Order: sequence, then C-alpha cells, then structure tokens
Amino acid sequence: MSRVNTVLGPIPAEELGLVAVHEHIGYGMPGSELDTKWWKTPEQRYEETVPKLRRFHEYGGGTFVDATGICNGRDVDYYRSLSAKTGVHIVASTGFVGGDTALPFFARASVEYLAEHFIHEITVGIGDTGGRAGIIKVGVSRGGRMTDLDKRIYRAAARAALATGVPVLTHLAIDAENAIAVFDAEGLPLDRVLFGHVDDGVNADRTRDTWIAEQGGRVGFDTFGYETELEDPPFWARPRKQRLDHFLRFIGQGHLDKVLASADANCSPLGWPGVKGHTVNYIFTDLIPDLRAAGLDEAAIKTIFVDNPADLLSIKN
Ligand SMILES: [Zn+2]
Repeated sequence: MSRVNTVLGPIPAEELGLVAVHEHIGYGMPGSELDTKWWKTPEQRYEETVPKLRRFHEYGGGTFVDATGICNGRDVDYYRSLSAKTGVHIVASTGFVGGDTALPFFARASVEYLAEHFIHEITVGIGDTGGRAGIIKVGVSRGGRMTDLDKRIYRAAARAALATGVPVLTHLAIDAENAIAVFDAEGLPLDRVLFGHVDDGVNADRTRDTWIAEQGGRVGFDTFGYETELEDPPFWARPRKQRLDHFLRFIGQGHLDKVLASADANCSPLGWPGVKGHTVNYIFTDLIPDLRAAGLDEAAIKTIFVDNPADLLSIKN
C-alpha cells in the first residue's frame, strides 16, 4: 500500500481524502520574524488558523499540504499540534519557495549538501520534531528566469525525490524548459513533479501548461480565489471567470489526469497582512460549486481533489 508522510506520521494514501495540495499555514518572507511590528503571539496564530482548519474539516477536507518550505515560516511542532487539534492531515515540505527566499546559509550550500538535507528531512525528520516532510518545494526566483541557485535547488530536489520517492512542487511553472532539463538530466520522471501556479494573473500568459502536460508533468491551477473581484486584490489576482475558463479549457484538452487545484491561501500570514477574504475554504464555497455549475461530474471532481493528489503524494520507491 502506498503511503504519504504527514506531520503526525505516514498514513495510507487512501486516507488522505480530499486534498488541498498547495496551501500555507503561515507564509512570510525570510526575516519577517525580525520585524517587531509583525510579531504574533502563538495564541493569535492559533486563533487565526484553527477555525479555518476546523471549517476545512467540516466541509469534508481531509489533507492540507503546506507548501511553505524551509525559510518562509515553516514550523513543524506547531503543525503537529494543529493537526492533532483539528483532525486535518497536514503534509509539510522541505525545500525552498525559490532561490531568492533561501537564506545565505543555504544559498551557499552545494547540491550535495542540499540533497542530503532534503533526504534527511524526508526520511529521518525535520529537526527533532518527529515530523517528516512529504513534499519538496522548489521555485523560480523573481524575474521569471531560473537563476543558478534555483537550478542547484531543483537538482538537489530531483536527487532527493529519486532517493525517497516523495514528489516535487514548483512555485511557478515559467521557464519550464530549464526546469525540465534539470529533471531530465537527473532522471526524475516528470509525473513526480507538480508544476504550480500556471493560473496566476502575472504568469498565466507565459506559462506553457499544455506543453508541460505533454512532457508528462503535472499541472497546478493552485491560486484559485485570488480574484480581481476581491475587495483589495493582490497583484497576482485574475478575473474569476477567466481563470475558471482556463482551467476548464485545459481539462477539455484531455488533461484531467494531470491537473491539480488549490487556493494557495494563508491561514495566518507572517510579515504581511495577507489577502482579506481568501482562505483554503474557497475550494468548497466557490470552486467546487463553480465546477459543478460548469458541468463537471462528481467523478471528475474526485479525480482532481482525491485521486490525483493521492497518486502525486504517494511515496514511490
Ligand atoms: Zn504558495
């Protein structure tokens, strides 16, 4: 039986249930913890987070994948307590959101060091928390072209994915030619990679989503809910209908088995106010109803939110 690393231990993939595959308990830029105006007490963070996870559970959510990575506020002891309190499975990540959020200690590290570090966090644990990482996060730095550091991190991630069987999630799917060249050179099958954020308002036009799927990669429409219709939309927002049409068009091209969807929301943002009115539960209040209204049947919805994530997150040895 295939298994998935959650922060409270490995579980059978069949027990994941409905998965939010790209979310954040709390995401902040490295260093925000040093800016005293943004400090939050543990009680404040709990207060902001627990009701959202409880609601997620009540709606029928099973698993919350925290795609935060090492330097952006990841806190595995805290995730373990949240999971125990709310009954939501939480999958934590090793790796980095992008080279430009890797702190100097890691930015100077070799590919070998990074690969070993990722493998340790996946097979032994993250520090002495007892929690093991279930995914490896990588990403393209600001500017839209992979930097040398991005490529080193991708290479280390590919090696760790091959050694451990956990998948890779990418922040951004732009410059996919360079990403795929690294994965190919390391021999990582592309169905072990979720190329994320193909749908955001900044990058959608320059992301080759169908090409990535044709190469065998999985494709993440995972910024659902960041809409220009919000009261105070972020710069990566996009008109709701435009994103939905993009998603449906992609599925209509025969890529249902390659697609994953999520909301990339923050339960309790760190070092920034977050985006008001947007939570992981957009999946239940808006996205799934929109998909039903557009004619997607329950089997297709299960494929997107249950079967595809279970297959992706399963440890493949
Ligand atoms: Zn994210």
